[in-house]
Amino acid sequence: MATPEARANPMLTPNKIGITKKEYQGSASTLCTGCGHDSVTLHIISAFYDLDIDPQNVAKFSGIGCSSKTPAYFLSGSHGFNAVHGRMPSVATGAAMANRKMVNIAVSGDGDTASIGMGQFIHIIRRNIPLLYIIENNGVYGLTKGQFSATSDKGSALKKGSTNLLEGIDLCLLALELGCGYVARSFSGDAKQMLPLIKGGLSHRGTAVMDVISPCITFNNHEGSTKSYKFVKDHDQAIQEIGFVPSYTPIDVDYEDGTSKVVEFPNGAKITLKKIERDYDATDRNAAFKVLHEAKSKGELLTGLFYVDPNTRPFQEVAQIVETPLVQLTVEQIRPSKAALAEVMESLK
Ligand code: SF4
Repeated sequence: MATPEARANPMLTPNKIGITKKEYQGSASTLCTGCGHDSVTLHIISAFYDLDIDPQNVAKFSGIGCSSKTPAYFLSGSHGFNAVHGRMPSVATGAAMANRKMVNIAVSGDGDTASIGMGQFIHIIRRNIPLLYIIENNGVYGLTKGQFSATSDKGSALKKGSTNLLEGIDLCLLALELGCGYVARSFSGDAKQMLPLIKGGLSHRGTAVMDVISPCITFNNHEGSTKSYKFVKDHDQAIQEIGFVPSYTPIDVDYEDGTSKVVEFPNGAKITLKKIERDYDATDRNAAFKVLHEAKSKGELLTGLFYVDPNTRPFQEVAQIVETPLVQLTVEQIRPSKAALAEVMESLK
């Protein structure tokens, strides 16, 4: 039963594993007041708290940029690695291979991911390393004073007036092309949509990509920007209503009228997808390509879960990595026997 202190302050109410929401926080943010990234941080804290995940079992990764500073602002009791620019996926891949038991989350930006880190982004998806990869996408390099990034939309304008003449990279389309089994887009200010998407991504057995439009209040929040608060609020079209149901909660969804669909993850958790206006099946990869290409050509901003395949095989399984964290293996377990080495030598003759 909640104590009077906890009733007065929800941050002090413990979850099912006895940890308060306050304990899922990190250090105080040093970002500009109003930065979209701080909202994403709050949603991440809520998701981990709601899912009763012990921060000690979490590994968080980031690269360089305003967004990559944010893992310091959540789950201070977890493991973290702030990698060099664009190289976070390599570090996350190594960590995930060395320890299959951790819950992995990566936070990067459009600069860190879509330019210097593009090669690494491609290969972490191709390998299907289990982690939730959030891109806090604001279309500019905030840390270096607001130049266009590779995800800036063609025709969008900088604060000082110059126009972007190049096509923006759609990270959701790219992730789909690479075979990603969980592809979503959301808006930092939309807690209702962000929360179930984060929880679903954390339940996915592979790389889950979430492209989150997260406005830069200082350099890209003006008229002419396609990543400003106003533009997103005016143009956001959610393709479905999303819910998340933990594995321990039974649900009763009406399948008959075609308005809802339930996708179940191997761990028993479920995502519920409720039709809003359009007919959309998030388990149909071709439909995801179609809707995203159409949106791009029309200049529409679609958000929601574009594609989910809950039964993908993570790379550790493909590579037959043992379930035991490598650090816990004994020397006898990791060192090949004399007979095994002799067999290898013989096979090479
Ligand atoms: Fe956020 Fe932009 Fe400030 Fe960076 S410069 S902290 S992205 S508002």
